[in-house]
Amino acid sequence: EEHMLRSEKLRVVGELASGMAHEIRNPLTTVKGFLQISKANGYNIENWYAMIMDEIDRMSDLTAEFLQFSKPHRIDFQVDSLHECVLKVIALMESEATRFGHEIHYQEWMDPILVWMDQDKMIQLLLNIIKNACEAMVENGTIHMQLSRDPKNATLIIADNGPGIPSEQLEKIFHPFFTTKAAGTGLGLSICYKIVQDHNGTLEVESELGKGTRFIITFPLVEEHSQNEKTAFL
Ligand code: ADP
Ligand code: MG
Repeated sequence: EEHMLRSEKLRVVGELASGMAHEIRNPLTTVKGFLQISKANGYNIENWYAMIMDEIDRMSDLTAEFLQFSKPHRIDFQVDSLHECVLKVIALMESEATRFGHEIHYQEWMDPILVWMDQDKMIQLLLNIIKNACEAMVENGTIHMQLSRDPKNATLIIADNGPGIPSEQLEKIFHPFFTTKAAGTGLGLSICYKIVQDHNGTLEVESELGKGTRFIITFPLVEEHSQNEKTAFL
């Protein structure tokens, strides 16, 4: 089983690496082409400066996000409050959301909701989803976050009232490099998917055109006894 897991991982990394090579080669070809044309014709490069910078930024974003996959991922699990995590993410995103004219609403759940998590990864997950919502909504959008629990699982819903996602794109949005944005990397949601998997959770999306999009994330709750064990151990 160990062996299969390893070869599955290698397959995924291989696919990502070849996707990455294509994604980097396209903007490189563009930049090189512009430079050659301007040299050959004695053009001033100024005309293409912005375009060249954009392409270079894109390559830089791609490589930075790609590292999230290829880093031998050390996950630092601790029992932590999901509620605290949501509050941190809202604090981090509030000014960005305001810049877009959006609002973030959070319906708080008062009981502590404890899950095993790597807090940095958890924050990265929520940031990616909220960032997408901010980018998708036209001005004055609203993001609703709602936390709840049942005996086994914690559920976090992140909903926006943006344009929604066409049904034929819904299954593709978690694929690496799928993007509908001019300057997108298409890596954000695939990273999210991996983070949720690493936490033994589930990540689902529901969307309706013209109405909005909801991401539904669940995590197994920390069981009472394992919490005590952890405390006893500490
Ligand atoms: P990127 O943000 O770089 O495009 P992501 O993996 O984060 O890559 O997202 C992939 C695609 O999923 C986006 O380009 C967009 O088309 C779609 N998407 C994600 N979140 C939303 C949302 N909240 N509303 C509408 N479309 C979304
Ligand atoms: Mg994104």
